[in-house]
Amino acid sequence: MTGPDAKIANGLSFDVEEYFHALNLRPVAPAETWERQERRVAATTRAIVEALAARDVTATFYFLGWVAKRDPALVKEVAAAGHEIGSHGMSHRMAGELGPDAFRDEARESKAILEDAIGAPIRGFRASTFSVTEATRWAFDVLREEGYEYDSSVFPVRHDRYGWPSFSRVPIEVETVAGPLLELPMLTLRRFGVNLPAAGGGYLRLLPLGLVHRALREMNAAGHPGVVYLHPWEFDPGQPRLLKGGLGAFRHYFGLDRTMGKLERLLDRHAFGTVGALAPAPA
Ligand SMILES: [Zn+2]
Repeated sequence: MTGPDAKIANGLSFDVEEYFHALNLRPVAPAETWERQERRVAATTRAIVEALAARDVTATFYFLGWVAKRDPALVKEVAAAGHEIGSHGMSHRMAGELGPDAFRDEARESKAILEDAIGAPIRGFRASTFSVTEATRWAFDVLREEGYEYDSSVFPVRHDRYGWPSFSRVPIEVETVAGPLLELPMLTLRRFGVNLPAAGGGYLRLLPLGLVHRALREMNAAGHPGVVYLHPWEFDPGQPRLLKGGLGAFRHYFGLDRTMGKLERLLDRHAFGTVGALAPAPA
């Protein structure tokens, strides 16, 4: 926790995947090419861990199982630096593409890989591309049944690929077939009767940082934490430019050289900690 407004701690999170796992890269880097792509996530993850250490801030790192399986030492290293480790599934396919059975397999396999790596239980889950939506509500049941205590996958906005605009903007306990599961949705800013995305990622790179500041201030003033997310590849302007143009390239490459500065400015102004700290362990 840090910063002058250090009253309510917000959740800071990183979805640890390679640049070629991002949905925007699918047309040029389908899954069968992943093994031969240049891997860069370890170096950028370490740079983030160092920046957080300099400010004494902890965060949650949701590891994609694909990454954790190939580099369990990185998972261990991040955990040893005091951060929470969570699961980002295995294959980066969206919940709706996987369906309940494959989604369950991935939730289970990734949890086992991560728990093996750090020797401690994994409590939290972040679905690929915020793909827990009204259509994939079954994901809550599956996650609770698989032993997760909280989920942080709902983006309560309207978007062409994801989003659940009618969902709660603040943490909420969801009833599942196996008991309650806490959902910690992505940060939004409420304006003109709609929820605007303000949680980080491409929005943090594309939009003025003032919007994220305002969303955090308003959320905290109302007594709630905000959840912010970024990806290590968003800190890596040197990544191979696999996309040559179009909307996907714009979304993926815009402002990569300024992400670290923006993150540092956020850390200077707001209190942050792990997402798991917002989800008290069940009694
Ligand atoms: Zn992801």
